[in-house]
Amino acid sequence: MAKKGRVFSGARPTGRQHLGNYLGAIKNYVKLQDDYECVYCIVDVHALTTVETTRDLIQNTYEMAVDWLAAGIRPGDSIVFVQSHVPQVMELHTYLSMVTPLGKLTDLPTFKEKVRDQPDNVNYGLLGYPVLMTADIVLYKSDVVPVGVDQAPHLEFARETVRSFNYRYNTKALIEPQMKNTEIPKVLGIDGVQKMGKSLNNHIELAATPEETRQRVMQMVTDPQRMKRTDPGNPDVCNVFSMHKVFSSAEEVQMINSECRTAGIGCVDCKKRFAENLNKHLEPFRARREEIASKPDTVWDVLHEGGKRARALADETMKEVREAMQLPA
Ligand code: SF4
Repeated sequence: MAKKGRVFSGARPTGRQHLGNYLGAIKNYVKLQDDYECVYCIVDVHALTTVETTRDLIQNTYEMAVDWLAAGIRPGDSIVFVQSHVPQVMELHTYLSMVTPLGKLTDLPTFKEKVRDQPDNVNYGLLGYPVLMTADIVLYKSDVVPVGVDQAPHLEFARETVRSFNYRYNTKALIEPQMKNTEIPKVLGIDGVQKMGKSLNNHIELAATPEETRQRVMQMVTDPQRMKRTDPGNPDVCNVFSMHKVFSSAEEVQMINSECRTAGIGCVDCKKRFAENLNKHLEPFRARREEIASKPDTVWDVLHEGGKRARALADETMKEVREAMQLPA
C-alpha cells in the first residue's frame, strides 16, 4: 500500500522506557508505521545539551532501542538510528543557524525554561537546540512530524526556518514539514501529581518484572480524599482509574467507575486488578524484549543499518543544499 508520506520523530536516549514513554510516544510510533514511511531517531547529540556525563549514553541508547523494537517498531519498514551516526545533521545545523535570528531562539519558552532549570550550564547547544531539531527533520525530507500542543512552537520554528532558508537561497531544497497534531496524553507518575519520569522516580518501567510492576502499582496514589475503605471515592481524580481506562476492559472500567463512587470496591483491590491487567498487556512485550536482548549485536546492527539508510537520504539533501547555497563543489 502506498504510504502517505515520511514521518520523522526523535527521542533522547533515556534508557529503559516507562509507561509514560509508551503511552506518550512509542505506541504512536508503532501505529504510524502502517500509514507512513517512518524515520525514528535516538537523538544522542540533543542529550549532550543537558547531561552532566556521557558515561551511560551508550547503554541508554541500547536499552531504548531494545524497548522500541520490542514494542513493535519494525526496522525493515522504518529507519531506526542514532543521531550522531549521521554527521550531515551537524553541517545542516550550521547552515540553518545562519538564517536564524538570535532573538527567535532566546524567545522560545523551552529555552527560558532550561535557563531556569540549569542556570550554571546555559551552553550554546541549548540555545541552538531548535535549529538542530529543524536539521533533524528536514535532512530526511520529512513531510510530517507528530507533535503535541506543547511542542507546536518548535515545529512552527522549524517551518519558518525552512522558509527563510529557501527564500535566502531561492531554492525548494528543504521541505516545510507539516504538523501532525497528536494527542499526547499526560501520563502521571505513581505519585498521581507529576508527569511520569525517571528523574522523579515515579515511573513504571516497561521491562520491570511482573512482581516489580505489581509493587509499583500498589504504591500508586489514589483519590486523596478517600481516607478509609468505607469512604466513597472519585475515579475522575484518580490516576489508577485513568490507567484502568487504558489497560482494562470496558466492562471493568464501567464497574470501577460505579463501585468506587459507592465504596463498593476498595483501592487495594482496584490496584491489584490494574496490576494484573497491566502485566497481562506487557507479557508479549517482555517476551520479545528478552529475545531481542539475548542478541545485543543484532540491536546495534539494526541501528547501524538504520544509520546507513539515513546517511543515504542525508547525502541527497545535502547535495541539493550545497548547490543551492553555491558552495564550492
Ligand atoms: S477504587 Fe480505584 S478508582 Fe476509586 S479511588 Fe480507589 S484506586 Fe481510584
